[in-house]
Order: sequence, then C-alpha cells, then structure tokens
Amino acid sequence: MKKRIVLLGPPASGKGTQADRISAAYSIPHVSTGALLRSECEKDTPLGREADEWTSKGLLVPDDLVVRIVTRWMDEHGPSFIFDGFPRTVGQAVYLDVALQELNLPLDLIVLLELPESEIRRRVSDRLSCTKCGATFGATLHGLSLGDACPRCASPLVRRNDDNSEALDRRLEVYTNQTEPVVDYYEKNSPKLLSRINAVHGSDEVFGSLVRILGDA
Ligand SMILES: [Zn+2]
Repeated sequence: MKKRIVLLGPPASGKGTQADRISAAYSIPHVSTGALLRSECEKDTPLGREADEWTSKGLLVPDDLVVRIVTRWMDEHGPSFIFDGFPRTVGQAVYLDVALQELNLPLDLIVLLELPESEIRRRVSDRLSCTKCGATFGATLHGLSLGDACPRCASPLVRRNDDNSEALDRRLEVYTNQTEPVVDYYEKNSPKLLSRINAVHGSDEVFGSLVRILGDA
C-alpha cells in the first residue's frame, strides 16, 4: 500500500475531491499547502509570521519556506500523507526531495490527473461552489443552478470569483509555467513513481484507477 503520495493536475481535474476520497478510504492525511499556510498564519506560529512577511507584501511565499512548513506538519502528523497540488514549482519539488531524504520518508507515488484544456474550460464554466462547506458541483451533471441549496449543507451555491475565463487563463498559465515543469522533474528523476490518469472520466472511475495504483506493492 502506497501512503506517501503527490497528486498533481490542472485546475478542475478533481485533485481535491480525489485526495479527500483517498484520505477517507485509507486514513491518509490530506494536505493542501494553501490551507496549511493560512492555518500557520492564523495560529501566528514563527513559520506563519515568516510567511506573512511575504504574503502581506503581495509576494509568493518562497519555496524553501513552503517546504519547511510542510516538513513541520509531517513532524506532527506522522509518516503518511497525500499532497494535493503540491509541489507547485520545481524549487518546491527539489526542497521536498531533500527534506524527505533527511527524514528517510521517500515518496511512494506521484499521480498526474490529465485533462485537456477544452474540458478544463467546460468544467470551470459549469462549476458551482458552496461558500460554507467548500464543495463544488458540476451544474449540468447534478442538475443544479446558481442559488440552489448545496446538496451537502443546504447553503446557497455560488460561482467562485476565480471561476471566470480571465482568472482561469491566469491559473492555466501558472500551471503551464510552474507545475508542468514539476511533472518533467519527476519524469526525469523518479520515472517509476509517476502514474498518469485520464481525468476526463467520472469521479468514480478516476477513484477506481487510483485505488488500483495505490494497492500495487
Ligand atoms: Zn455546502
């Protein structure tokens, strides 16, 4: 059973959903670095304050600091994890490799969820989100409209601010420029760990493929 997992993929590829499902099915902690950074800042930890010095100026948190925050999380939460959309840059991937080597906790699996741009655009323009519980739904697939009650928590569904085509262009550009090189990095340095899954299929089918890959000894 693989239990140190990196899950990569473009916007709307279903990374967060699949990470949640794996986490629930196998009791592997799911880490999103965005949420982790926010929580460090809110708890006002030394690392959180260091991160805040950058974000308060509108700058990105440096790669080594992101990895130090993730490493500290690993000290507290033990040796298994599923990283959702992290590492986001080659710098983070390199620092992460060094940190995991020092801890003697190498990655078991890197999964890339692949989705063509036309399908990313279709999904994002069709997506409704819940501001309360964070769930997202394909409006067409679930027969939902703007303002309908969230099927999970009954709060009204909205369209996220960054789910418009201009914001998506920027997110896709960041993905192409920063994260696709991370895939190249793993392809070069850890080719045996890298698996690709076609994320065009439905959530259940993608999850089934993940379960098969995870079970490989
Ligand atoms: Zn909800």
